[in-house]
Amino acid sequence: MKDKIITIEDARLPAASVLKQRSARVNFPLSSEDKEVISTLKEMLFAFGGTGLAAPQINVSKNIAAIYIPQIVALIRENAKEYPLHVIINAEYEPIESEGKDSDFEACYSIKSTAGKVSRYKAIKLQYQTEEGEEISEVATGVYARVMQHEIDHLNGVLITDRLTKDCFQGPVEEIMRIRKESLTEEKRLLLEEWILEKGGKR
Ligand SMILES: [Zn+2]
Repeated sequence: MKDKIITIEDARLPAASVLKQRSARVNFPLSSEDKEVISTLKEMLFAFGGTGLAAPQINVSKNIAAIYIPQIVALIRENAKEYPLHVIINAEYEPIESEGKDSDFEACYSIKSTAGKVSRYKAIKLQYQTEEGEEISEVATGVYARVMQHEIDHLNGVLITDRLTKDCFQGPVEEIMRIRKESLTEEKRLLLEEWILEKGGKR
């Protein structure tokens, strides 16, 4: 399923790829095409084991993303809670600047070369529509707020490589993931390794 994902390293893509564009708003009721995009995103994100996947990453320039914070992520990350697999449509956020920012490890399914510690707002005012068209407006914090900022960035054509400024801790994905693992307690590291084996892939 990973071959459906477009990456910035993909030489077949024109320079101004869909990853770098602001995606289009989605109208309700959803078209059958929109519903297909939604089920593809959900299916893929579930198979990958989280945490977010946006429509532009499968070459669809629409404001749709899937979010899923499984138990393992909630156990390993600081300030993380589990969230079931769900879809956000026409999503946007406003930072709550008074809460400040923090930096934490992020990687992206659409970037094979680089990962790093991205600075994000600790709290945001989040707005989106569910698959059913229900308007949700809420304050998000912790890892959920971080994942939302990463995915809403995708919907606006912004990638972690745009957020990783020179002073940010960053490097090749493999190396960053190794350092990230080393930064965990032994208990958390074992959980992560077990999960990677379960998923049969690298992470
Ligand atoms: Zn991403």
